[in-house]
Amino acid sequence: MDRVIPRRDFLNGAVMTIGAALLPQSVHGHESSADEAQNHSVYNPAVSTGLRGSHPGSFEIAHSLRDGTFWKEAPNPERLAEKYDLIIVGGGISGLAAAHFYRERAGANARILILENHDDFGGHAKRNEFHLGGKLQLLNGGTMLIDSPTPYSAEAAGLLKKLGIDAIALEKKCADHDLYRSLGLGSGVFFDRETFGADRLVPGFTTAEDGESTASSGRLEDFLARTPLNEAVRRDILRIERAKIDYLPGLTSAEKKDRLSRISYKDFLLNIVKVNAGLIAFYQTRTNGEWGVGIDAEPALDCWALGLPGFQGLQLEPGAAPHMSYSAAGYANGGSDRFHFPDGNASIARLLVRSLIPAAIPGGSVEDVVTAPVHYERLDSNSSPVRIRLNSTVVRVRNVGDANTARGVQVTYASGKKVFSVHGGACVLACWNMVIPFLCTELPEKQKEALHYLVKVPLVYTSVGLRNWTSFQKLGVSHVSSPGAYWNSISLNWPVNIGEYRSPRSAEEPILVHMSRTPCKPGLPAREQHEAGRMELLITSFESLERKIRDQLTRTLGPGGFDSARDIEAITVNRWPHGYGYEYNPLFDPEWPDGQQPHVVGRKRFGRITIANSDSGATAYTDVAMDQAFRAVRELFTA
Ligand SMILES: Cc1cc2nc3c(=O)[nH]c(=O)nc-3n(C[C@H](O)[C@H](O)[C@H](O)COP(=O)(O)OP(=O)(O)OC[C@H]3O[C@@H](n4cnc5c(N)ncnc54)[C@H](O)[C@@H]3O)c2cc1C
Repeated sequence: MDRVIPRRDFLNGAVMTIGAALLPQSVHGHESSADEAQNHSVYNPAVSTGLRGSHPGSFEIAHSLRDGTFWKEAPNPERLAEKYDLIIVGGGISGLAAAHFYRERAGANARILILENHDDFGGHAKRNEFHLGGKLQLLNGGTMLIDSPTPYSAEAAGLLKKLGIDAIALEKKCADHDLYRSLGLGSGVFFDRETFGADRLVPGFTTAEDGESTASSGRLEDFLARTPLNEAVRRDILRIERAKIDYLPGLTSAEKKDRLSRISYKDFLLNIVKVNAGLIAFYQTRTNGEWGVGIDAEPALDCWALGLPGFQGLQLEPGAAPHMSYSAAGYANGGSDRFHFPDGNASIARLLVRSLIPAAIPGGSVEDVVTAPVHYERLDSNSSPVRIRLNSTVVRVRNVGDANTARGVQVTYASGKKVFSVHGGACVLACWNMVIPFLCTELPEKQKEALHYLVKVPLVYTSVGLRNWTSFQKLGVSHVSSPGAYWNSISLNWPVNIGEYRSPRSAEEPILVHMSRTPCKPGLPAREQHEAGRMELLITSFESLERKIRDQLTRTLGPGGFDSARDIEAITVNRWPHGYGYEYNPLFDPEWPDGQQPHVVGRKRFGRITIANSDSGATAYTDVAMDQAFRAVRELFTA
């Protein structure tokens, strides 16, 4: 369990360096030298292992600003001579899209500076890059795929098109959905001894979210017979998965939907379906991946829209109803096209960067961007009208003069131990809602309060490099859900072949495994659960996470011959204490009149400062991040 992972073995010979001091950039006015430019291989944050996501070094300044200690210790800002038409805070999809939309209106010569506190661009759309056995393997460190509850808007779909992304065509050409099935692998459930009394991996349980439900495939009894669940629980699982019982007789579909929107799925199961209480543990975390909390805090109606069982006899009419969350309402009506790049939506971030700063990412197609190198030293060159400055935390944003008449902004940021201030014609805050009141202290109090309302959802996405996947093959699984365990799921990487990138096809080859956890505290209101989850993440060390990874993989895959000391090659834990943008939860949030929802009040333009980010759309999707960028830029031109 304690074997040291020789992480550097996987960096393909490239020496990895992290930190602002080592970034070969032209930050603060000096151009990078030719030597530095050629030396780009020394800086590639995507290959970093260990604690990633909101990595050490990215959040400390923002936390000291929140705690009121930053300005007590900070040096006086050095005023930079640089001048920009637009300064964007946040280099996620929303910030990059804002730069794109701004250039469309202002022209290609518009000077734009993007400030980002992490050591890489993309925000949540982050890339994990491994070189296992000398071969490139990729996984998303955050944003997983193009997939939204609603079709992409004209603006977001238009942006994808301009970037060359045709999700339907790519899905058809590049996704290899049948690979694991053709090798006899499917989904299974790991029952942990702490929750279910015995450690046992039971293959053969596929949920509707996986595309095909075991309930309809006739193998459910077989599956249940092999589980450590007692007879009463098994009987009730069969009932809710299969039986067509109307548990709300006498009500119309609309009345049923209304009732289901006001109780949790857990309460629906316990009090309306009247299942044995022991069944809850089996379903408890089925909503975690979508909303970051379990079935105790999600409305039954939203769970119906997500495809959870128990509703098949209720004869609910298709389609959304009032009092549903954004995602659930969208799913009830049908969603967007889907496509997963090998590094998730990090490829979208790369395409955006390529279009903004062509010299930084060579190539010219949506397919070659996946394997293209990034010349990080060219992201912040004063020969380019658009510059991306990493490792730079914005600490203050002010209109110059009165907000109503201001013609420019002053943006102050900290990088390492230095503080700089820079002038811009306008600013788009494409960063998280909860940060904004600390940056923009002059905002009206009501707006600050509204910005504080939305609590981001904490998540952890872990990428584990394995020497081979023969244990998965022996056990017949490619995906394991673990309803009671620390990690909610374990999945072999998505098979997708694009450009020169090839996914492993043989179980003898190295592979990446994705594990996810959504820390929360069942029983509390949703926002409090997210806050508790965030606290948990802040105090959990990488060593402790690593031990939990090894432990769970061993207990799950051990019977298939897995040996964590021998088989684990590398681990990257993407910790997102500030993950998904908060989506209103019909069980806990009031129904505000239109226009008075906190995200609408919070995103109001303030002089030459406008607000983007998916938070300002009160949900967590790439299309929303783009839509909000479009709105924030439009507000600058209509002001
Ligand atoms: C684990 C995970 C999985 C997801 N999966 C999907 C998915 O499959 N599909 C999907 O559509 N969406 C998914 N999302 C939602 C995702 O948040 C959005 O799709 C989108 O990437 C959000 O982009 P954004 O630019 O609005 O925010 P972010 O990506 O959060 O970017 C904002 C950036 O601003 C930076 N910032 C904050 N404060 C400052 C400051 N003071 N100074 C400088 N920079 C600052 C932040 O560090 C961050 O990098 C996922 C999110 C997470 C966390």
